[in-house]
Amino acid sequence: MASEPPVVPIIGGGPAGMSCALWLHNYGLYPIIIEKESALGGMARMSPYPNEWLLGQRGKTARENAAEFAAHIRGLGIETWLGTTPHRLHRENDERWRLDASGEAADYWDQQS
Ligand SMILES: Cc1cc2nc3c(=O)[nH]c(=O)nc-3n(C[C@H](O)[C@H](O)[C@H](O)COP(=O)(O)OP(=O)(O)OC[C@H]3O[C@@H](n4cnc5c(N)ncnc54)[C@H](O)[C@@H]3O)c2cc1C
Repeated sequence: MASEPPVVPIIGGGPAGMSCALWLHNYGLYPIIIEKESALGGMARMSPYPNEWLLGQRGKTARENAAEFAAHIRGLGIETWLGTTPHRLHRENDERWRLDASGEAADYWDQQS
């Protein structure tokens, strides 16, 4: 039986976090984006100004680009926890990693450090 892909939590769902998630996904890992706000996009979500310097994205705003990035992540089915802030990562007695986030706890499986 094939083993589960390693889970990689990514804290922050801005352009950098989403890019990281895309690459990890492409490499066969299982990224989970943890974003404290209610949507992916980070600071780029705030910009209504047209962009004239990104190759192939002429005239689009950073907000539009951010929406496309987020749609890409959704389209790949990458797990995303919105409105969640991680507080503490620690190892349980059974060697499993546990992430305490926004008052909830999430298991981080059996990965060895
Ligand atoms: C007004 C404005 C206009 C801009 N215009 C442009 C533009 O036209 N073109 C362009 O290319 N760039 C523009 N930028 C810059 C662009 O937005 C940033 O370069 C880009 O957003 C940086 O991405 P990032 O993922 O590194 O960080 P961020 O965008 O800052 O993303 C970080 C994410 O992490 C989350 N986060 C932080 N701490 C935690 C935590 N503890 N737990 C969970 N989540 C957390 C934040 O909520 C955020 O979503 C603009 C920025 C601003 C503010």
